[in-house]
Amino acid sequence: MDDEQASGDAPAEARIAAARGSRNDHTRRHNLSALLTAVHYGGPLTRAQLTRDTGLNRSTIGGLVAELAELGLVLEDAAAETGAVGRPSLIVRPRTDVVALALHPDVDALELGAVAIDGTVLARRRASLEVPPTPADTVAFAWEAAREVAAELGGARVVGIGAAVPGLVDADGATVVDAPHLGWRDVVLGDALGDALGIPATVGNDANMGLRAEWSFGAAKGVDTVVYLNGSASGIGGAALVGGRMLRGGRGYGGEFGHMMIRSDGERCSCGRSGCLETEVNAPRLDAAAHDATALDGYAETLAAAIANLECAFDPDAVLLAGYLGALFDVRRSLVTERVKALAFRPDVEDVVIARAALGGNRLLIGAAERAFAPLLQDPAGIPLVSLA
Ligand SMILES: [Zn+2]
Repeated sequence: MDDEQASGDAPAEARIAAARGSRNDHTRRHNLSALLTAVHYGGPLTRAQLTRDTGLNRSTIGGLVAELAELGLVLEDAAAETGAVGRPSLIVRPRTDVVALALHPDVDALELGAVAIDGTVLARRRASLEVPPTPADTVAFAWEAAREVAAELGGARVVGIGAAVPGLVDADGATVVDAPHLGWRDVVLGDALGDALGIPATVGNDANMGLRAEWSFGAAKGVDTVVYLNGSASGIGGAALVGGRMLRGGRGYGGEFGHMMIRSDGERCSCGRSGCLETEVNAPRLDAAAHDATALDGYAETLAAAIANLECAFDPDAVLLAGYLGALFDVRRSLVTERVKALAFRPDVEDVVIARAALGGNRLLIGAAERAFAPLLQDPAGIPLVSLA
């Protein structure tokens, strides 16, 4: 906008050149984004693969890779010989010294990790807690742990910090509206973290970030419609990706699948209602049933009923089960699959993949880091990186 106004009095040729320059700049930034995004999700790629993935021609790719290398975001080196005759292909890989910080406050621990662009968790710090952390505890921990991991990694450059919070987060990506298990209400965690660490900060719901991580690097890689259920000490978190967009709902309560009513005469839930999925199938009950095959069958059937209901609502391509629900699925895989098939509305329900989530204990850190990386992937030349060491 500024450029156009400034050239208002310029001769026609200069205006046209300026417009073309601005359009070229826009195209270049768009292409840098496409290339870094391809390397981010696809891992090390040859120029030929990049040509295929981005639809750009080889010479354009050469210039863009050089620019990304100059920005310190990628490296290019010779690929291992594959026995083929001809020039060895060059491999473009993301640099591992560009990291996002990821923070996960939970009822019994605080955890911070440094995650590289390729999704690798390079370093982490964890503090076990007797009582849930306050927002101030959380920020103080993040400040100290960030300096420790930065020192450990020596010279890493940081794009920002993402926090995965067990609760409802405002669409502003900064405010925790309600995290009942932590006892937090209307906490502007994003601003507090950003001010303390001096880097951009973003906050999201933990289940959404778990699904985002699995979509980027795990069991739902590249699948556009996914339902995700995670069983943890604080209940069952849910999330849904629908046609590539994370479900939010009108006020952000979408995806609270742990509170789907499964039995109207069931046990009372922390939410005040009765018979929610997370009171019917929870960690203490599963632990108690570890050697009781009939009880485990019952919990597996309840889980299957919940999945069948979610299939009616979302028509997903994949259903991912994490935490203790992933563990239950592992020991009752065929029972869950058969019951879902029997209960499903959709005729070709066997095409729906039901799977255990793949990223284990790294999932939330990777998902939170993904949010912190998003602006860099969008505009690789426009986002400054910060050295914390
Ligand atoms: Zn409930």
